[in-house]
Amino acid sequence: MKKRIIILLGLPGSGKGTQGSVLAQKLSVSHVSTGEILRSMIKKKESSFSLLKDYMDKGKLVPTILINEIVHRFICLDNKDESYILDGYPRNLDQARYLTKNFNVEIKVILLDIDEQTVKNRIIGRYHCESCGKIYNKNNDKHNIEGVCDRCGSSKFMCRIDDSEEKVLFRIEEYKREAIPLIEYYKDKGEIIVINAKQRKKEITEEILSCCKEWLT
Ligand code: AMP
Repeated sequence: MKKRIIILLGLPGSGKGTQGSVLAQKLSVSHVSTGEILRSMIKKKESSFSLLKDYMDKGKLVPTILINEIVHRFICLDNKDESYILDGYPRNLDQARYLTKNFNVEIKVILLDIDEQTVKNRIIGRYHCESCGKIYNKNNDKHNIEGVCDRCGSSKFMCRIDDSEEKVLFRIEEYKREAIPLIEYYKDKGEIIVINAKQRKKEITEEILSCCKEWLT
């Protein structure tokens, strides 16, 4: 049977990670976030970790040949799951072509549409729980108990090195350069759905579910 994949596409800070994890829970499928996989490889000091860290700390995309290999490991060798939410991959045309060519998959692309100023504000106030990864924003979110993670109870939080203002601007420019041809590619194939990502988190989730639930499950 063909694997089915929902690809979440959008500017850094458009909500791919948040939506990816909620959707995966609601649809009982795996959430594959390439950013998360890379951060965990660096934490565990897995092969090529210092090279990966160097790219990521600068906010640059890691070489496509490496990321394709990693995605291959996560999707192709895993026979259990037939469906996935893919967040952060593909990031450019070469990766998109690799995905289509090398995997027997059906694809729907969700483009989380949002303006640059909103994502800059979101990312610059962003931090997460070191233990479970839940994302917060110091300008919008209040914890149930101050200093304690609402999801797991940990009291250790951190910011991503690549969330500084300078790196965010760099990542946004890189996204625009790489994503425009990518969006055109999926538009031509009729596989893209545009969602207004300025809505509340719950509304975005509901809109994605209404487009994809039947198709995916
Ligand atoms: P993200 O968590 O999606 O914002 O990704 C964080 C960083 O991981 C990016 O700035 C890149 O350095 C790297 N990364 C994640 N996914 C990819 C990808 N598909 N291609 C290249 N680099 C990636």
